[in-house]
Amino acid sequence: MKLSPAIVFLAACAYLSPSANALPFKRNAKDGEDEAGVAEAVIDYEEVLEIRLPSSFEKLGGSYRNEIVENFFGGTGDAFSDDLLEVIDHLANERHDFLIDTRRNLHRHPEVMYNEHDTSAYIQKTLKAMDIKFTTGWAVNTHPDRIPGKGGYGIVADIGTHRADEPCIILRADMDALPILEKTQGIDGFKSENEGEMHACGHDAHTTMLLGAASILKEMEDSINGTVRLMFQPAEEGGAGAKRMIEEGLLTTDPKPVQAFGMHVWPSIPSGTIATRPGTILAAAEMFEILVSGVGGHAAMPHLTIDPIVTASSIVMNLQTLIARTLSPLESGVVSVTKFEAGDAFNVIPASALLRGTIRALTTETLLSLRDRVEHVVTATANTHGCNVTITYSADYYPPTVNDPTLFEEFSKDVGAMLSKDGKLLDIVPTMGGEDFGFVAEKIPATFFLLGQGTAHTGPPTNYGLHHPHFALDESVLPRGVALHVNLALRALKKLSS
Ligand SMILES: [Zn+2]
Ligand SMILES: [Zn+2]
Repeated sequence: MKLSPAIVFLAACAYLSPSANALPFKRNAKDGEDEAGVAEAVIDYEEVLEIRLPSSFEKLGGSYRNEIVENFFGGTGDAFSDDLLEVIDHLANERHDFLIDTRRNLHRHPEVMYNEHDTSAYIQKTLKAMDIKFTTGWAVNTHPDRIPGKGGYGIVADIGTHRADEPCIILRADMDALPILEKTQGIDGFKSENEGEMHACGHDAHTTMLLGAASILKEMEDSINGTVRLMFQPAEEGGAGAKRMIEEGLLTTDPKPVQAFGMHVWPSIPSGTIATRPGTILAAAEMFEILVSGVGGHAAMPHLTIDPIVTASSIVMNLQTLIARTLSPLESGVVSVTKFEAGDAFNVIPASALLRGTIRALTTETLLSLRDRVEHVVTATANTHGCNVTITYSADYYPPTVNDPTLFEEFSKDVGAMLSKDGKLLDIVPTMGGEDFGFVAEKIPATFFLLGQGTAHTGPPTNYGLHHPHFALDESVLPRGVALHVNLALRALKKLSS
């Protein structure tokens, strides 16, 4: 693939230390990152990487009436009829080359939250080539004082009748990468070219699968009853991009969506197996930063200092008792300190120490009560040692991702099983990971699916955890994700209109 001069420039000058964090606390903008400002979504499409359209798309040149889809919507059969399965599978598999190509292009050019300029441009160019209308400028960064980047790179595209009196549902994909130095082996042709940034959470795959689904849905557009809203969402990794898009009218713009579906590739589940559960599937998440201030001085004269390192160490240890001693044994919670930074010299007691970490719980209520407890422990410990302390939380804590029980029971579990390898949905316990799809699921009935990808037969091992520097995608699951999206969309619309 040809690289545009703009992309070469960005790739060459973008640098972020691998030790930099992904948390939404202030870090300095690096060269090539946008400073705060109003989003401008002006894309020079000539500058964007070349894209390859699905071959059937080139052949057909846009949408056409699909008899099977028309019969599905017009006929007396129910939303779970088998008729569609084969045709969608065929169309998804036919897109194999397009999917691999798209995913690898996105993978080579990862961009962290609120800086997804090239990613957005690539998606926009693909949608334009497919003749799919879209709006951009979504997910403007409302906290540029904390997270560099103006944002506004989100994209929303509607496919279908666009009629307010017919149902509308959302399919969602996230777009952003992480500040991780990629160490994945065996992907020399498409390794990250933005040093220190990596698609280590599979969002390149999510975007690809939604583009694949878009191309199929567009081909069927004239036969669909209702509207499918595609949500390409930036800033999932701590930036609450989904919340921004909701505030900007994602759910209130006509036709108003009444259900939403999202998915995530999942390395601990066999490739092709689909998992989900009713109720809470992912945790509520909050992040904190604690600045402990003491009095610095000579390391040989500690009595003349107030040592922030000893104080911060006590804080870390005391926080570990919170879950064990203040949370009911029947509830779930996590308090993890993930960064401890202090001092520069072997003979100087520094004046301050910095801690960062995360709080997780399965309900917002427990999350907020843990947050209160953290504050209490931190303040009391600092007082004991004579240090001052300030605690900062993230701009937006994430609610838990809760799958609507009725939607799960009456719809999602059956469609998930249809698309899962072996025809069975894998039941799982909730995980303490957070997801900003939770903001959508808070507003309208939704289901979040996990798409297993841990047992690839070729390429690098695909069972490294999400956010691991060796994380690798099992690309063979891409068509399955596409098919899951399309089946969910068509079947949900059918069920809603019958
Ligand atoms: Zn992630
Ligand atoms: Zn993710």
